[in-house]
Amino acid sequence: ENNSLIQRLEKAIVNVADFPKEGIQFKDITPVFLDPQLYRDVIKALADFSRGKVDAVCGIESRGYLFGIAVAMELNVPFILIRKQGKLPPPFVSEKYELEYGFAEIEMRQGQLQKGQRVLIHDDLLATGGTTQAAAKLVESQGAQVAQFSFLIALEFLQGQKRLEQFGAPIYNILNYQ
Ligand code: AMP
Repeated sequence: ENNSLIQRLEKAIVNVADFPKEGIQFKDITPVFLDPQLYRDVIKALADFSRGKVDAVCGIESRGYLFGIAVAMELNVPFILIRKQGKLPPPFVSEKYELEYGFAEIEMRQGQLQKGQRVLIHDDLLATGGTTQAAAKLVESQGAQVAQFSFLIALEFLQGQKRLEQFGAPIYNILNYQ
């Protein structure tokens, strides 16, 4: 049954070569929303991984919201938005991280995560892990605990998992590309 979810998801996701830059194999997850049963089953698989193990879900802008908020609702726990720089009103905390060219910054409202909470960090896709690593640092800066990571897709050849090892939290992804 889980096998069929993997196959159905694999079939739905569209690979777009050389977008947004040459050499990038872009994974377009938007067709998932054309199939409500598939969307429901993805949410269920993600929620089953985290059920009973987390007290809050942090989703990363913007595709991390599409699944993360539904998972949080299914688990009946708070959902906290991690946003790109400049979108949130104060008070917020920020974390800078390195990109291929230059730097980026993500932010989270202060006071929304509670000390000691076990947190799931969710995004649609794990690539180099830079974004997720910065999100995990934000979570820890609030005295909360990074309990789990989840993604629909991991591009394992980019070794993002290695950058997440330092947090000692299990990683779940439905699909992976070697
Ligand atoms: P990274 O920080 O390198 O792990 O990049 C992760 C973020 O970039 C995620 O929010 C993804 O949605 C997006 N991303 C990176 N690579 C791809 C890709 N090949 N296809 C679709 N989205 C990607």
